[in-house]
Amino acid sequence: MSNIIYPTTNFTATEQLTIDRGEGVYVYDSNGKQYLEGLAGLWCTSLGYGNRELIDTASEQMGKLAYSHMFGGKTHRVGQELAERLREMVPVENAKVFFGNSGSDANDTHIKLLHYYFAAIGKPQKRKIIARERSYHGVTVAAASLTGLPVNQTNFDLPVEALGILRTDAPHYYRGALPGESEAQFVERITNNLEQLILREAPETIAAFIAEPITGASGVIVPPAGYYEKVQAILNKYDILFWADEVITGFGRTGHDFGSTTVGIESPALMTLAKQLSSAYMPISASVIRGDLYEAMIEPSNKLGVFGHGYTYSGHPVACAVALKVMEIYQRDNIFERAAKMGDYLQRRLAEFRDHPLVGEVRGRGLIGAVELVADKATGKAFVDGSVGAFAQRACERHGLILRAVAGSSLAFCPPLIITEAQIDEMIEKFGKALADTQDFVS
Ligand code: PLP
Repeated sequence: MSNIIYPTTNFTATEQLTIDRGEGVYVYDSNGKQYLEGLAGLWCTSLGYGNRELIDTASEQMGKLAYSHMFGGKTHRVGQELAERLREMVPVENAKVFFGNSGSDANDTHIKLLHYYFAAIGKPQKRKIIARERSYHGVTVAAASLTGLPVNQTNFDLPVEALGILRTDAPHYYRGALPGESEAQFVERITNNLEQLILREAPETIAAFIAEPITGASGVIVPPAGYYEKVQAILNKYDILFWADEVITGFGRTGHDFGSTTVGIESPALMTLAKQLSSAYMPISASVIRGDLYEAMIEPSNKLGVFGHGYTYSGHPVACAVALKVMEIYQRDNIFERAAKMGDYLQRRLAEFRDHPLVGEVRGRGLIGAVELVADKATGKAFVDGSVGAFAQRACERHGLILRAVAGSSLAFCPPLIITEAQIDEMIEKFGKALADTQDFVS
């Protein structure tokens, strides 16, 4: 064992796999074995590995200006151009952009922007945030408070109470419906719960509602039709801002430009972006807010004092230059349209596993999906722990496919957006073999 403390790892675990290099949708281990990267790293390497244009862009920018900060209004051209490009792309009106380094720190930034904004407009008590059960919004102390997965909170005294995080239902029909409940009834019940929560807590104390349009780490949950329509109507009624965490779903992942477009979230007030923003070639994130929220903070900031928040690497010029090039490639090569076509194909192929005795549910949209393994297909009974999911993940690796077991026993698919039909076929074939091994393991 090396002396690395590994992230999101049980400390009894031994080192698993040494990844040496990558090319296209494939990575290679230290023995030269090839793996199809079915999760695009951690849902992020949209343009795959070894992209020469991105490598050259980073290298040129390092040569020109390797570092400059953005404190106090210091700026640089690539940062300004990237912010402008994002303003043109995102469905957030007249977007203003704060740069960070990760999805987690971008969500922390949003919490501070919300507190500052509501203080600026004379409503400092409007600061609670509604997040959903089993959501994933990151792991910093504030972002992990938004996250609704026990593993990220147990042992850490989270959520931080002062943040006033409220919890509402996960929109997962397969796991959350009552016996005999239709999808429409399920949506009615959980959105009614949301409204009751708002009334109980008092709407004038609630700033925002955060949601991943389609979730990732909690098992790729696609809410039933009508869910977001109802949620938005309730939030509008009580003057609560919609905050879309698009860290995974941003940039063509779900069959459209943003997950919000795919699921019908209209003009969110806040949006969190990371991962595919740079195709993971450099760490960078963006906390995007509606222009009118920013405008409202300008004059009051004379009284409130500086927005005392910023990272050394906010707007890192190399990360900005790479992200700008990624945006250019997305547009020039019609990556989102291609990904939408490949996404339809992936969903069709994944659906073939629906009848498999181990499979409880197949779900997804575009180039993100999950196959949930269950102990009892008829009742949907889950496996007691994550050992079957972990076995399936390892079986995939033996067959040369990297996937990720999430939420216990769901195998998540999220390949680079540049994947071809033949490579999807390869992924499905390898997964089929791993599933057969898993079947032997459980029986
Ligand atoms: N938000 C969502 C929806 C995510 O999926 C993630 C990471 O997977 C994050 C936030 C946190 O991002 P990071 O790991 O870059 O801090």
